[in-house]
Amino acid sequence: MRLKDKVALVIGGTSGIGEATAKAYAKEGAKVGVSGRDEEDGNRIVEEIKEAGGEALFLKLDVTQFSEVKDVLNRLIKTYGTLDILYNGAGIHDDYQNALELDEETYDQLMAVNLKGPYLSVKAALPTFLEKGKGTIINVGSQGSFVAGPGGSAYVTSKHALEGFTKQLAFDFGEKGIKANLLAPGYVETPMTEGSEEERLKDIPAKRAAKPEEIAKLAVFLASDESDYMHGSSVLMDGGWNIGR
Ligand code: NAD
Repeated sequence: MRLKDKVALVIGGTSGIGEATAKAYAKEGAKVGVSGRDEEDGNRIVEEIKEAGGEALFLKLDVTQFSEVKDVLNRLIKTYGTLDILYNGAGIHDDYQNALELDEETYDQLMAVNLKGPYLSVKAALPTFLEKGKGTIINVGSQGSFVAGPGGSAYVTSKHALEGFTKQLAFDFGEKGIKANLLAPGYVETPMTEGSEEERLKDIPAKRAAKPEEIAKLAVFLASDESDYMHGSSVLMDGGWNIGR
C-alpha cells in the first residue's frame, strides 16, 4: 500500500498505460479519479477497481478545456478531500507525419492535448499542492522526448517540450514540496500502437513491447514518497531501445 490515503487524478486513465496506472494506484491504496474522453471505458475501469476493493470515480474530461479541467479537479477534491498526485497521461499520435505532410489542424490538436493539457491541469492543481506544501506531478513523455523517430513532427516536438515543461516545474516549485518528473515509455502494447510494424522490435534489446502494467509500476514509484528526492528527472522505460539509437 505505497499510496495509502493519497488521492490521484489520472488524466488519460481510460485506456492503455493510463488505465493500468489508475488500477495500480488504486491497488496501492490511492483514491483515484479516472479521467479521459471515453465514458464507457471510464465506467468499466472504475467498476473493475471497485470490484478489486479499491476506490475510484470516473471524471469525463477534454483536457484541452481549462473549465473542464477545473471542474474535474473540484469534483475529485469534493469527493475525496484533496489531491496528492497528478498524472498527465493523455496523449494522441500524429501517424509519423513529417512537417510537410502534417496539416495545421492536426498539429494544433496534438499540441493542445499533449502539451497544453498538462499545463492546464498543472495550473489547476498547483494551488492545492502549494496550500498543502506537497504535491506530485508525473508527465508522460516518450522515448520521443529525447530522439526523433517515435512519432512524426508534432508528436516528437510535443514530447520534447513536455520534458522542458517538467524541468521548469521542478525548478520553480521544488522548494515548495512539489516534485515533477517525466515518465518516458518506449514501445508499449496499447490502442495507440495497434498495427504498428513489428519491424521496430529488431532495434529493441528486450525484443518485445512493454505491457502497460510494467510502465504502471514506474508510475507508482514516481507517485510514491520513495521518489521524493527526484525533481525534474526523465525516466526512460524502453527495453533498451534508446541506447542503440
Ligand atoms: P491510449 O490511446 O491507449 O490512451 C490515451 C488516453 O488519452 C485515453 O485515456 C484517452 O481518453 C486520453 N485522451 C486523448 N485525448 C484526450 C483529451 N483531449 N482529453 C482527455 N483525455 C484524452 O494511449 P497510450 O498508448 O496508453 O498512451 C498514453 C500516453 O503514453 C500518451 O501520452 C502517449 O503519448 C504515451 N506513450 C505511449 C507509448 C506507447 O507505445 N503506447 C510510448 C511512449 C509514450
